[in-house]
Amino acid sequence: MKHRCVGHRSRRFPPSCSPVVRVGCVNQAAVIPCPARRALGKAGKHGRRIMQENASGPLATVFAAPGRYIQGRGAIDRLGEVLEQLKSKRPLIVRDPIVEEIMGEALKGLSGATHVEFKGECSPEEIDRVAEEAREAGADAIVGIGGGKTLDTAKAVAHPAGLSLVIVPTIASTDAPTSAVSVVYTEEGEVLEYRLFGRNPDAVIVDTEVIVGAPVRFLVAGMGDGLSTYFEADASSRTRAKTLVSGAPTQAALAIARLCYDTLLEHGLAARLAAERGAITPSVEKVIEANTLLSGLGFESGGLAAAHSIHNGLTVLEETHQFWHGEKVAFGVIAMLMLEDRPFDVVAEVVDFCLEVGLPVGLDDLGLENASEEDLRRAAEVACAEGETIYNEPFDVYPQTVLDAILAADAFGRQRRAVLTGEAELPTVAG
Ligand SMILES: [Zn+2]
Repeated sequence: MKHRCVGHRSRRFPPSCSPVVRVGCVNQAAVIPCPARRALGKAGKHGRRIMQENASGPLATVFAAPGRYIQGRGAIDRLGEVLEQLKSKRPLIVRDPIVEEIMGEALKGLSGATHVEFKGECSPEEIDRVAEEAREAGADAIVGIGGGKTLDTAKAVAHPAGLSLVIVPTIASTDAPTSAVSVVYTEEGEVLEYRLFGRNPDAVIVDTEVIVGAPVRFLVAGMGDGLSTYFEADASSRTRAKTLVSGAPTQAALAIARLCYDTLLEHGLAARLAAERGAITPSVEKVIEANTLLSGLGFESGGLAAAHSIHNGLTVLEETHQFWHGEKVAFGVIAMLMLEDRPFDVVAEVVDFCLEVGLPVGLDDLGLENASEEDLRRAAEVACAEGETIYNEPFDVYPQTVLDAILAADAFGRQRRAVLTGEAELPTVAG
């Protein structure tokens, strides 16, 4: 037997060394000295270090979710019922200008509601303005209806004030709706801060008809965001990294993230094609659920890793600003797989999926066909900035290895695309 208890190096496990302690013996990082050792009070240098590291015990696993998730054709009609369950009599509805047009009828029946139009940026000023409106109206709940920034503003108003919160996304382009996070920007549109609330929305209502009514590129971008969830949760689980809900990843989050990935691969193309025709099929419903609920739960309680950091790095390059979050994340996934040295089959599966549904596989798909190595190095350096989730990967990460992964992903993606379109060229034989 290789394992020996920290406290019993010279012997095998003494009878007093419990199985729990044996698991964490010398071959593992997260160990606690066995009770027998502690009783002896002879912790050596190594033993002391271990005891300090575990002074407050190992990181607990945490799983967070919204109170209720409702999805389907005409689901917005359930808003009144949801507000009633939350005992709200005076909700404040913060919404995008387009909401009046796409679901105005459904909102007419809500008595006692105050409507506020979102001004376009989830900035501290806008959050304060909406919060003031909520106070003046004596609101007892906030309902956010619209795109990501509208929803983030609703979260940032409701949580600090202790108000109930209902989130109604009108597009399925990211996995943010179910989470307890708001991304706050300056008035000029630059990321200012992430605000983490200890509470998820009380309810999330996703009206499939509304989602399908939006341009299909949103749905596809959401698939790109969802594509990263399993791989990032997998990396975070292996390192027991702290997630956005301040805990180690749960098995539930990892399983949900895997279901998200499998759903996208099986139904992604069918969903895109149906949605383009305005059709709501079971595939469309499954992909919207994957983009919103499965990916949302998976990333928040499962953890982020390299793909989102590489996304963050790419955003420093001006050319990528015209692309959606999920589109950049999709390329980040391919680069992450290169960084992780994943088997060919895994990378090919992901790249082929991207090609199939219309997500970027090469730097040229992100407007970076003329990017210099210096530009890409800058992106790699930002991806490796302190505090980035790329450090949740189970190995050391450096800007150089990230740059190499980006270049390898670009080459792989372009080659796969060329094969698919019959334009692949064999390498020239030297000599
Ligand atoms: Zn994302």
